[in-house]
Amino acid sequence: MLFTQTFIPTLREVPADAVIASHRLMFRSGMLRKLANGLFAYLPLGLRSFRKVEAIVREEMNGIRGLEIKPSVVVPGELWKESGRWDTMGDAMLRVQNRLGGDFVVSPTAEEAVTSLVRDALASYRQLPLTLYQINTKYRDEIRPRYGLMRGREFTMKDAYSYHADEASLDETYRAMGLAYRRIFKRCGLSVIPVRADSGAMGGSDSEEFMVESTIGDNTLILCRTCDYAANVEKAACKAEAAPSQAAALPALEPIHTPSVTTIAQLCDFLKTDARSFIKTLIYRARNVALDLSGAPGSAGLAKRASSPEASPVYPEAFFAVAIRGDLEVNEVKLAAVLKASEVSLAADEEVVRLTAAPRGFAGPVGLTSLPLVADLSLSALQEGITGALQADTHYVHVVYGRDFVPWLSADLRTVVSGDRCALCGGELYEKKGNELGHIFKLGYKYTRSMQVSYLDESGQSHIPLMGTYGIGIDRTLASVIEEHHDEEGIIWPMAVAPYQVIIIPITYAGPVKALADTLAADLEQDRIEVLLDDRNERPGVKFKDADLLGIPYRVVVGEKNLNRDVPVVEVKRRGDAIMRLLEVSKAKAELSRLVYRELAG
Ligand SMILES: [Zn+2]
Repeated sequence: MLFTQTFIPTLREVPADAVIASHRLMFRSGMLRKLANGLFAYLPLGLRSFRKVEAIVREEMNGIRGLEIKPSVVVPGELWKESGRWDTMGDAMLRVQNRLGGDFVVSPTAEEAVTSLVRDALASYRQLPLTLYQINTKYRDEIRPRYGLMRGREFTMKDAYSYHADEASLDETYRAMGLAYRRIFKRCGLSVIPVRADSGAMGGSDSEEFMVESTIGDNTLILCRTCDYAANVEKAACKAEAAPSQAAALPALEPIHTPSVTTIAQLCDFLKTDARSFIKTLIYRARNVALDLSGAPGSAGLAKRASSPEASPVYPEAFFAVAIRGDLEVNEVKLAAVLKASEVSLAADEEVVRLTAAPRGFAGPVGLTSLPLVADLSLSALQEGITGALQADTHYVHVVYGRDFVPWLSADLRTVVSGDRCALCGGELYEKKGNELGHIFKLGYKYTRSMQVSYLDESGQSHIPLMGTYGIGIDRTLASVIEEHHDEEGIIWPMAVAPYQVIIIPITYAGPVKALADTLAADLEQDRIEVLLDDRNERPGVKFKDADLLGIPYRVVVGEKNLNRDVPVVEVKRRGDAIMRLLEVSKAKAELSRLVYRELAG
């Protein structure tokens, strides 16, 4: 391909809003342009790399017996009402009406659409397991799209959905997906960190996220220095501190006068101690609590709702006192999981006062009978603590867990931070920021039940299939390749996703130099090597700079001086390497083919 016959509008200027390398370099190299906030156009060069990522994903999905389909992007709102997500997806879902007033959704994801297809076509166990996938446009109306392709509004996702007769079959596909994902990212030249993810709004149990490290990452990862433990901070666990050895009898509980001292910081000053000595008590409001609260303090008058005859009742709203060591934070995702609640939030001040019958800042676990007390595991490791005494201007000192208060429930609730200890090996945990590229997830019966999918087994009995869902952001994966492979001058493509594999730069595109450049390009193309020939009438310096910016793996420079040697040569350099080699013209084609194919083979 001749440079002058393609459309590669490179930029010297960096767009003002481009703060990360992929955003900056995709614009500067003429791969991408912006149509509106969060909406982009791939130009020819960008689309070439995009198609390569797509092809790798497609190959790996086909390799594990995924079947590609292509549903419409605009789907009926009815399907979303059936699954219940019409009301829960929030403003990120773009809803539109057609001229007849019918509700439609511009797909943010496709569990509903694909499950409705399966519902219509699934009859027998013989059709299972079934894995359908698409590589298709998605739309999420992000409030603040930014970082170029990393957080756009419209994007392309590979999303797969699998259906199974039993757990073993779901496990098998889930495992195969996990391996296929590892191969996909490796082939794209990406170092991903697979982490145990939180189920979040998706509902369900087993899941794994594939993250890349990124300073602008919207996820915090907790990693172990010693073993391979990696988790999203939303779900990360840590080893509880050892319980105190029962030494000499501890002093008895004692109230102390603490006038107007309501925060832990003030208390630390007042008592000349640190936050680790305190028992912090927070009052939480939880919604849709599926945990059985019968017999729990303060639960007698709670409203209940039975979701189905066999399931335990759900409490639309319930309050809890949550106690944790003073220097730690409550992880609300973990708390919601422990309470089996749809959401938890701190109760308003007036509710705290009403529920604890104490002024704000003086809540504590001792003598608290109006609420169920949920204690973090950190408390059982505390020798003794200081806490609010449920009355104005008073705290207790020498508070002993198990002696002065007994929680209704004890669980791991803390937000894990750097320096905490690994639950698996005791090693030190540390934090990293990450971006999610892919997510695999066992959904169980969530959608197949609400959307009434069924099949008949061997004996003609009707069953609901199990389901899994598996996504990869194609654009984000491409942008992450650039994040991981670039330098000051531009992109350094891994061969597998490079827009072209070889760039030929004639010093001046005329005479014998032009003749050789043309011949070499044609010969390489015959070997199915993708060649860009810079035939522009530009100074060599400009062409070299652009070649570095575009990041095409092998650069071949054809110059008159080198052609006039006794043995004519061309200069060959791998983008990103410091060393330039001279190749004999007669061997150039064979050697370049060898280099390209060696890299493609990995
Ligand atoms: Zn560990």
